[in-house]
Amino acid sequence: MSFERTKLPKKRPGDEELGEIKFGTLFTDHMLLVDYDEGKGWHDGRVVPYGPLSLDPAACCLHYGQLIFEGMKAYRTKEGSVVMFRPDRNMARMNESCLRMCIPPIDEKEFLGAVAELVKFDDAWVPSAPGTSLYVRPFIIANEPFLGVRASHSYLFAVILSPVGSYFKEGLSPVKIYVENEYVRAVRGGTGFAKCAGNYAASLKSQEEAHQAGYSQVLWLDGIERKYIEEVGGMNIFFVIDGEVVTPELNGSILPGVTRASVIELVKSWGMPMSERKISIGELAGAYKDGKVEEALCTGTAAVISPIGELKWNDNVMIINDGRIGRVSQRLYDEITGIQTCKLEDKFGWVYRVK
Ligand SMILES: *Cc1c(COP(=O)(O)O)cnc(C)c1O
Repeated sequence: MSFERTKLPKKRPGDEELGEIKFGTLFTDHMLLVDYDEGKGWHDGRVVPYGPLSLDPAACCLHYGQLIFEGMKAYRTKEGSVVMFRPDRNMARMNESCLRMCIPPIDEKEFLGAVAELVKFDDAWVPSAPGTSLYVRPFIIANEPFLGVRASHSYLFAVILSPVGSYFKEGLSPVKIYVENEYVRAVRGGTGFAKCAGNYAASLKSQEEAHQAGYSQVLWLDGIERKYIEEVGGMNIFFVIDGEVVTPELNGSILPGVTRASVIELVKSWGMPMSERKISIGELAGAYKDGKVEEALCTGTAAVISPIGELKWNDNVMIINDGRIGRVSQRLYDEITGIQTCKLEDKFGWVYRVK
């Protein structure tokens, strides 16, 4: 791997200012690039100054959407070292996405090592105030100049880094979500389990309508029966029903979140009942009527835990836990963020040391 330091370093905003900057709009000084060419494999890994990519207008990703991405975070610990949370899981998931989208696989260990090198190179950009982190965005684009529907013969793997402030400025704050009845996100056999760009383009229409109606996100139902709960935009979903934690089982159309997997392991380690199963919106509404829905929460890298205060399904408005944060949500948030920043013991071996 080669390293080229920028001649024009940017001024990094202080940690206090990060909270004022919109998520994902500020990037560090450097990026990682690796090329792929048929016959040569992945080659020429390099850390270079952050800047525009040069693409042929016929690059096939621009036309047929052969694009995947990942999202993870690096954290500064009290001692000043830098760690990442289960990045091996992200690299493994990236390969699952590659497989589905006919993109050649990456060597997970080697590429994770390269990502860590980039983070180390931009070490000064890893913030340290509570709640702040460095968002790490790897992605792969098909860049063969070719207008035809088949897998590209060349690719670019890239990683960019974005320092982010605390997701919730005043602690965990519950969100309002509505159940999407008209549009669907994914179907079994499709690409729902892959982090591929097209999934998100297809969700924008629904997202816009939700915003117009005063909701922050939509809850997707399964694409066939339109009955079973799947997930929320870029987050997985959990409920606490009558003392049991329930999340929809992975079925090929749900994105297998790293936060989701971590929540499941934590809940089990507490000795609390935890089930991954099909749950229909009708069952949830019934449990709500019976006063058994104690909490609802979303999980994902960006917010970690995002409690749901209101869930609207047609005319059925469910106010959950009086719109306040529940005990399970708060405990999950505290324990996961505690492990991520090395304030709590890493019993599960989830922490990866960058430096
Ligand atoms: C990324 C993502 C998630 C959350 O995954 P994490 O690994 O926990 O960040 C959930 N659903 C969708 C659709 C996603 O894209």
